This record gives sequence, structure tokens and C-alpha cells, in this order.
Amino acid sequence: MTVQTLFIAGQWQPASSGAEFETLDPASGQPHARCSEAGTTDADAAVAAAQNALHSAEWTGLTPAQRARVLWRIGDLIEENAEELAALETRDQGQPLGISQAISVAGAAEHFRYYAGWVTKISGETEPVSIPGVFHYTRREPVGVCALITPWNFPLLIASWKIAPALACGNTIIVKPAEQTPMTTVRLVELCQEAGLPAGVVNLLTGGPEAGRALVEHPGVDKVSFTGSTDVGREIARAGAENFKRVSLELGGKTPIIVLPDADLDAAVAGSLQGALVNSGQVCAAYSRFYVHRSIADEFAEALAKAVQEVPIGPGSDPAAQLGPLVTAEHLASVHALVSTGIEEGARLLTGGGPVSDRPGFFYRPTVFTDVRDDMRIAREEIFGPVLAVLPFDDEDDAVARANDSEYGLAAAVWTRDVARAHRVAHAIRSGTVFINMPNPVDAAAPWGGFRSSGYGREMGRGAIDLYTEVKSVWTSLA
Ligand code: NAD
Repeated sequence: MTVQTLFIAGQWQPASSGAEFETLDPASGQPHARCSEAGTTDADAAVAAAQNALHSAEWTGLTPAQRARVLWRIGDLIEENAEELAALETRDQGQPLGISQAISVAGAAEHFRYYAGWVTKISGETEPVSIPGVFHYTRREPVGVCALITPWNFPLLIASWKIAPALACGNTIIVKPAEQTPMTTVRLVELCQEAGLPAGVVNLLTGGPEAGRALVEHPGVDKVSFTGSTDVGREIARAGAENFKRVSLELGGKTPIIVLPDADLDAAVAGSLQGALVNSGQVCAAYSRFYVHRSIADEFAEALAKAVQEVPIGPGSDPAAQLGPLVTAEHLASVHALVSTGIEEGARLLTGGGPVSDRPGFFYRPTVFTDVRDDMRIAREEIFGPVLAVLPFDDEDDAVARANDSEYGLAAAVWTRDVARAHRVAHAIRSGTVFINMPNPVDAAAPWGGFRSSGYGREMGRGAIDLYTEVKSVWTSLA
């Protein structure tokens, strides 16, 4: 088995300690690759490389048009290597090939192209200051050295959410993928190198929390962009405050779906299936809490239970499979522990409720509960698995209040045929995104981020330009 090494200052190199770790194929449970495991010394070297590159003539000397072309080229290279990248994502993460092709790889290429377009449009403003005899303007400058720390659910896509705008704004970066799924980030860094980025602009540390912590605590890192769990996000916010790092956090979620009595029920069930089960529910915005009007709650829950039973389960490499494995045995155990609390706390289990027992790997049966109460753990805690909880409601305002009564506020959905009602609910919901009569896609142009414990900052769209630039005020005397 070859070992994927770290990439620092334009050189592929093992960890200074020589440490390595294995990454598993979740469909078989077997190791399929080895990576170098970075520690503090490697983080020091990567930060030094990014600091050197930040002010280097090779990087700052690229005109915006030239930088845009490099980003566009990365998008092209992702597309040229799409088949290989999709197969690698499926092997390392477990997601069905259809998802790795259409969401992960295509989305990654689109992010680089979208931010290639931004490079030549990142501008300051001239401000109408009221002090006579002066001219004032602003510049948008790179924040500096950015540590980009990503989770295991959409490794290639989420790395691209961060790398593309960070480079577009002229920063240098150190990317640290999750230890469970490093492989497509390694390949993406190779493609960045192939696209012609100067040495030290993109650096890669594979490894676990120690490498992430070393970056977050490093005084040479100016910004941390983190996507992951709320608990780790809280730790990063604290550590970043120590030396006033710019920190943006995309954290957990517990997406509520409000199904009003006039909804197109077939469409709501089909959309819910997609919204809840994509990537086996390992999606921060996965449909999770289904507030369904009491008059249709039983019919809806039964239709949902029937529909999930028909979803083909199998290894992501099987083109027929729509539901792949969970990422690790540990994660499967944590999903199952929460499902067990649902049963203990009195929710009615309609289908699922345990792992798939007749195959290797980390497969979990899609699970539907009904008669769920708001105080149950399955209604409050992020499960990050294929588990759907139906909670009947009687009154629209009550449904909105219950949907909002969560520590999270990442996404929500509403299903109704009444357009006024749809927007009324969308405005009353406290979350970063609301989907009306549709599942839960992301797009490079649409801002993405959370309220409350789902984090702060908005990735994608114009918002990411704010995250990766500092605004400088320049005053000139006209006297
Ligand atoms: P995690 O928090 O365990 O790990 C995320 C990353 O942080 C990994 O690279 C890990 O090595 C690193 N890390 C762990 N401890 C660290 C520390 N103390 N300091 C610095 N880095 C550290 O999350 P996960 O289990 O990989 O991902 C699942 C979580 O991610 C879920 O909660 C999910 O909701 C969230 N998520 C959010 C979004 C979003 O856009 N809001 C998107 C995807 C996933």
C-alpha cells in the first residue's frame, strides 16, 4: 500500500515523526490506503511555507486575470479527472457513485470556476466621507495564511468550498482533511500543483485532531475556516479568540421540515426521501425532524416508511445502490445509540432500527419513527445518519415555534401549495437556509451557513469573499 505524504512548500514529504494512519473503505471495513500523520512540527513547517508564499513575487505577482486562469484550470483538471476522483471519493467515504459524480466532483469543479469569475471582481469602494479635502477608498486584501479544516462527509466538495475562495482572494492555505477521508483532498492538492500554483500557496497536512489543533493554535495562522461538529467548533472559537484569528464555522444541524396540510403529499414524501437519505443522512442539512400536520401525519409517516424500505442499499461502487454505508464503525455505533434512545423514550418505530446484518461494512437500515416528542433525544440531537422522526402538529405557528426550538439553525424546509404561507413560514424560521417544496441542494452562488450553534460566517456566493478578505481604508489629503 503506498503512503500518501504531506505537501509542504511544494514538496511531498512524510511526517517528521514518521507516523502514519490507515483509511478504510466503509463498504468493506478494510483499509485501502495509508497517509502520513502530521504533528506540531509539520504544522510549523506548513505555516512557515504559507507565510513565505504569501508575500512571494511568484504569488503576489500574478495579476487577477492570471490568478483567475489558475483557478479555472483547477476546475478543468477536476473535470478531466472526474471518473478517478468520483471512484476515490466513493471508496474512501462510501457515498454512492452517482452522488460522488453529480454532487462531489461536479460541485468541486463548479466552485473553482465560480470563484475564478470572482477574482477579477474583488473590488474596494470609494466612500462619500464628510471630511472636506480628502479622498477615501477601500481595498480588499487577503487575510493571510488560512487553515482550512474539513469533515468526512463531503471531503472533496467541502475542501473546494474553502480552497477556491481562499485562493481567489490571494491567500495562502494549509488544508487539513478529516482523518477518516483524506484521499480526494490529497488528489485535489496534486491538481492544484499541476495547475501551476507557486510552491507554498497550497499546503496539505493529513492527520487527526492534533494537526488541526496545532494549526488553530499557531500564531502564524491568520484565519481558520472550519466545517465539522459543534463541539469542535466551540473549541476552535475559543482557541482562535486567543490571538484574534478570523474564524468561520460551519457546524452541525437538525433540519426541521414543516409539512402543511395542503402540501402535495407525494412530492413531499419523494423530496423528503432525498433530503433525508442523501449520503446516508450524513449531511449537515439532512432532513431530520418532520413536523407534519396531524390530519396527514399517519399517512405521511407510513408513506415515508414504505419509501425508505424500497431504497436499494449497497456499496457505493454498485451503480444500483442509492444508500451506501456510514463512514466508520464508530459513527455507526453512535447512530445506533441514538436510535436506541428513541425506542427507549417511547417513539414508535415504523421501520429500520439497526445495522444491516448480512453484509460487511458499516451499513445502517433507514429508520423512520413516528409519534416523536420534542424532548426526545432523536428530536434534539444531530444523528447524522438515515434516521427520520415524524412529530405531528396542529397549528402552523406552533409548528414554527417548535421548529425554531433547537440549538441549531442551519437549514429548514416547508412543504405547502400556498405560496403566501410558504414565504410566511420561511421568514419566521430561524435558520441560514430554507427550502420551499424541495430537498436540500447547495450551489456555489447561494450563501451557506448557520444561525446559533450551527456556526457563523457564510460560505459560497459573495459571502465567502468577505470571509477571506480584510477591508483596508485608505485616506488621501487633496490639499
Ligand atoms: P469533527 O468536528 O469531528 O472533525 C472535523 C475536522 O476537525 C476533522 O478534520 C478533524 O480532524 C478536525 N478536528 C477534530 N478536533 C479538532 C480540534 N480540537 N482542533 C482542530 N481540528 C480538529 O467533525 P466530523 O465528525 O468530521 O464531521 C461531522 C460534523 O460536521 C457534523 O456535526 C456535521 O453537521 C458537520 N458538518 C457541517 C457542515 C456545514 O456546512 N454546516 C457541512 C458538513 C458537515
